[in-house]
Amino acid sequence: MDRRYFLSKSGLLLAAASPLAWASDDENTSRKKKDRHHDDTKPTPQPPPGGTVKSRVIVIGGGMGGATVAKYLRLWGDGIAVTLVERNSSYISNIMSSMVLTGQRTMSSLTYNYSKLLSAYGVQVVTDDVVEIDPVGVKVRLGSGTILSADRIVLAPGVDFDTVPGLGTSDRMPHAWKAGTQTTLLASQLAAMTDGAPVVLAIPKAPYRCPPGPYERACLIGDWLKTRKPKSRLTVLDANPAILTEADNFTQAFALHGITYVPNASITSVDPATMSVFTSVGDFRNNGVVNLIPGQRAGGLVAATGLNNATMLPGDTTYRFAGVDQLTYASTVSGAGKVHIIGDASATGQPKAGHIANQEAKICADAIVRSLAGLQPDPAPVTNSACYSTITMTQASWLTAVFQYNASTHAMAATTAGSGASTGWSAENFKEMNTWFNALMADSFA
Ligand SMILES: Cc1cc2nc3c(=O)[nH]c(=O)nc-3n(C[C@H](O)[C@H](O)[C@H](O)COP(=O)(O)OP(=O)(O)OC[C@H]3O[C@@H](n4cnc5c(N)ncnc54)[C@H](O)[C@@H]3O)c2cc1C
Repeated sequence: MDRRYFLSKSGLLLAAASPLAWASDDENTSRKKKDRHHDDTKPTPQPPPGGTVKSRVIVIGGGMGGATVAKYLRLWGDGIAVTLVERNSSYISNIMSSMVLTGQRTMSSLTYNYSKLLSAYGVQVVTDDVVEIDPVGVKVRLGSGTILSADRIVLAPGVDFDTVPGLGTSDRMPHAWKAGTQTTLLASQLAAMTDGAPVVLAIPKAPYRCPPGPYERACLIGDWLKTRKPKSRLTVLDANPAILTEADNFTQAFALHGITYVPNASITSVDPATMSVFTSVGDFRNNGVVNLIPGQRAGGLVAATGLNNATMLPGDTTYRFAGVDQLTYASTVSGAGKVHIIGDASATGQPKAGHIANQEAKICADAIVRSLAGLQPDPAPVTNSACYSTITMTQASWLTAVFQYNASTHAMAATTAGSGASTGWSAENFKEMNTWFNALMADSFA
């Protein structure tokens, strides 16, 4: 592991001297009083007792995992000051973002800001990039040069994407697997393409974020093509040997939408000039639109800090994700135990999903609160995940799983009793999907 101890080299200032230092306790207290005046039903975070900050936590990344852990540390912590550092001023949900491609959702309907985390829970939100972490000294350096120090760091940076040979800097084959400009680009490519032009959706080898996500996107696009571009056909190139989740539902749905499914199709290279995709099972040339979802690994900071010690795929030379103690989400890298990694960046027995990131965040917040109070973590955590998949533009299926800590394997494992999937799909499920989504996002951001 090549950890860099930037503080010892640079001798830079600590948080207390920075313009981004914590808001004063007086400011926090008066803000909370004002909030209570506006809404008495709002849960009240534990204020630092006697105005004293007992400990500090830095959360890196304000997505599904980071926003949730910041909120719950403030709700459950006793005198814990929390600073959330996120590079963007707002968060765009990946969940539901495939519906932007079919015109059923707008990007603004998926955008969440951090104002509630500050106003209701007293989380200090800093818009900046974390560029370096000192896992032993428990410090981070921001793009602005500011150094923040804390008692614990929670790292929730999501995923980064592999480079695909031949793609270069071309944006002609968007992944749209991180909701944002690529999502709107793919939506406009689909809308503008000639009726009859072929569409390709390429799925990477697992583990990637949201196991059913690419199959559900294929169903949505397949259903949309039937009315908007009836002469066009969708081909799904899957690097995996078979459909990974809800195989019965997706197999039936692909037949319903006339989607061609090609398993074991690992991409060797692409040519954006001719919109061609070259795979281990053949070439797919002159496609109208290519939704190319590359292989994934933990967000860059994980490897840069030497915390990537888990999940090496066949043919890989590097570990992709962060190994964690699944009771606390603390890094398993020696000496880095004060850095906790949650969400898609961590390697656990659970899928890379927003609902799971939210659940991991709560287990992690609880473990940090206990640890700062000198207590042991919960020895038997349980998490759950629900996932609805859009099988048509108006109907959905569902998948649910309950995970329990296995003390023999030291890993979270799916329980048979709590896990299952719908047989088929319905409009009722589609309605429930929206309720589930709103509840999940409110639990994370409001
Ligand atoms: C199309 C699609 C559909 C999906 N559908 C579902 C679904 O139905 N159900 C479900 O449960 N999950 C779903 N997911 C998966 C879900 O979106 C992810 O699992 C979830 O977002 C992971 O949360 P996270 O906190 O790990 O990462 P993210 O939510 O990606 O958050 C990471 C954050 O960290 C920030 N960041 C990264 N590095 C830095 C840095 N150095 N400094 C500052 N900030 C940084 C990023 O800007 C980002 O805001 C879907 C995903 C996709 C792509």
